[in-house]
Amino acid sequence: MSFNEPILLEIAGGVYAVNEFGLATVFVVEGTQRALVIDTGMGYCDMRAIVEKITAKPYTVVLTHGHLDHAGGWDLFDEVWLHPADRERAECVTAAERIASGQRMRGLEGDPDTWDYGPENVREWKRLPKIRDLADGMEFDLGDRKIICVHTPGHSAGSCSFIDPARRLLFSGDACNVSLRVTDGGPETALKGLMRLKTLEGLFDRNFNGHMAYASGMTHISMPQTTLDDCIAAMRLILDGKAKPVTRTWSKYSGGWTASFIYGAVTVTWRVDGEEA
Ligand SMILES: [Zn+2]
Repeated sequence: MSFNEPILLEIAGGVYAVNEFGLATVFVVEGTQRALVIDTGMGYCDMRAIVEKITAKPYTVVLTHGHLDHAGGWDLFDEVWLHPADRERAECVTAAERIASGQRMRGLEGDPDTWDYGPENVREWKRLPKIRDLADGMEFDLGDRKIICVHTPGHSAGSCSFIDPARRLLFSGDACNVSLRVTDGGPETALKGLMRLKTLEGLFDRNFNGHMAYASGMTHISMPQTTLDDCIAAMRLILDGKAKPVTRTWSKYSGGWTASFIYGAVTVTWRVDGEEA
């Protein structure tokens, strides 16, 4: 059996996850007056039509960051909020890169035939949405509750997370998960963002990252409870020079040599510039 359409799950009352062929997950949080759409996927489907089937309410679209698997479907929307530090990155994404990424992620976990998608699903962007600037502390009022934006850089300079205090949920994009890639600013920057999240941890119990059911695996529904603390501890050990990396690899994704370090439930990967193979 294979799926030729994204899978829709209600993960909490009025909160929906759209799993786009195991490539990325888009969340729709519906309040009494408005909805918030978090990310737009890789652009392998008509995400706008899916969103508008989920909610009839007016909605706001925000991006956790500017990577191609989160901004890929933004051309379908009229207006999208994004942190300015990731704007240029998002605007430069090409259809060829989205196709290459989709092919690379096929079968990364589980059966490669689980998801029925291919390069033919990818459309060239004909236009970009109007882009509005996200900032730390910004709130999006959905009527019965406000969703809080938290700037959590490290994975990318403009990475933001979103907290729904009413449902006690964190949507962390790629900024705080069990496989955290620090690509901008190094572990020092990532630690600052994670510590900012730590000050707000009383507001959430569950952490949904931007790759729920990563690839075709169904293991990553929400992140383990220790994820935030493990990410913080790992960054501190890396900065103190006490982290013993398990692997060193050349990463096209990170644009240089990277090291990985496992602590608790998380693997942190970061750039180690200037080091020889
Ligand atoms: Zn990313």
